[in-house]
Amino acid sequence: MAVISSPPAASTAPLIDGIGRRISYLRLSVTDRCDLRCRYCMAEDMQFLPKSAILNIEEMGDLAERFVARGIRRIRLTGGEPLVRRGIDTLAMRLGALIGHGLDELTLTTNAMRLAEHAPMLAAAGVRRINVSLDTLDPAAFRHITRVGDLGVALRGVDAARSAGLAVKINMVALAGLNEDQLLPILDFCSANGCDLTLIETMPLGEIEGDRSDHYIPLHQFIAPLRAARAIWPVDKATGGPARYFAIEDSPVTLGLITPLSDNFCSTCNRIRLTVEGRIYMCLGQDDHVDLRAALRDGDDVDGLIDVALAGKPRAHDFHIERKSQPAVARHMSATGG
Ligand code: SAM
Ligand code: SF4
Repeated sequence: MAVISSPPAASTAPLIDGIGRRISYLRLSVTDRCDLRCRYCMAEDMQFLPKSAILNIEEMGDLAERFVARGIRRIRLTGGEPLVRRGIDTLAMRLGALIGHGLDELTLTTNAMRLAEHAPMLAAAGVRRINVSLDTLDPAAFRHITRVGDLGVALRGVDAARSAGLAVKINMVALAGLNEDQLLPILDFCSANGCDLTLIETMPLGEIEGDRSDHYIPLHQFIAPLRAARAIWPVDKATGGPARYFAIEDSPVTLGLITPLSDNFCSTCNRIRLTVEGRIYMCLGQDDHVDLRAALRDGDDVDGLIDVALAGKPRAHDFHIERKSQPAVARHMSATGG
């Protein structure tokens, strides 16, 4: 008599790593592709994954549901540029339906090039907050940093998101010699548009043209002009994420600082990352990963592999900007999802 084996039942065991950190936040990279080529993120002639190497939208939804069953409360869709992925609307709707059924929040990080067209869909899917990457308000500098981007398109995207009722946080990567003069203008833009602002130190991920350390600037130095002009003080806003938050005198903007290089934040890390290839990376700054794609397609023990990944979550990243011309990991941020 033939024995029909059924795939192992999905687990509901909570996600707790080898040193007791509870994992409740999933970054889901839905594509490695992008319509921009930001200099600190990508090389100009990036090679992207072939279609055969990536998860389809249904597989991504299946995996995300599995993670929610195991205690993931927040999912952020990212990439590459998530809004260039065909089927992003289907995925957003499917994951949005989990809100209130295990999931607390669905968010997205975008460069805003296609935000005007997608903002109503995101709002309808249940997204309430998004992050928009905006490193400068100078059109020529925007074009230079992104190599191909149009600032006006990004600003219209932010407008459309606000009109659709989405809260917008601006992400700004601090870049010596490229946008040091932009902190105060972007703060004013955030005040006028009801946005918060998070500053990020450039991280050594993936080969780019030139040496990333040429543009690295520690955030305490980047914000010195702001400190000279206005008082800032820490506020309590525990998100489990890497940012530390500050209030600014005479400003409604909450300022977040992400300082992986000058001030390591790993001890409270609550996140994992799933790439478009179906790999779980337990740390943005380490190469260790576990591949779920084959197990998913073959009906093997996906939850067992998730447990293997959890047990191996590193204590901390391994970023050192001074390792000239040698990134900490070969993957680009766009592959793992920022
Ligand atoms: N394409 C979308 C965007 O730019 O918002 C989402 C993906 S992008 C990889 C996510 C975030 O990572 C962006 O805010 C981007 O500025 C940031 N980022 C990319 N490469 C980085 C690097 N090497 N160091 C620090 N931040 C980086
Ligand atoms: Fe694309 Fe985002 Fe990377 Fe810029 S930072 S190249 S928008 S993935």
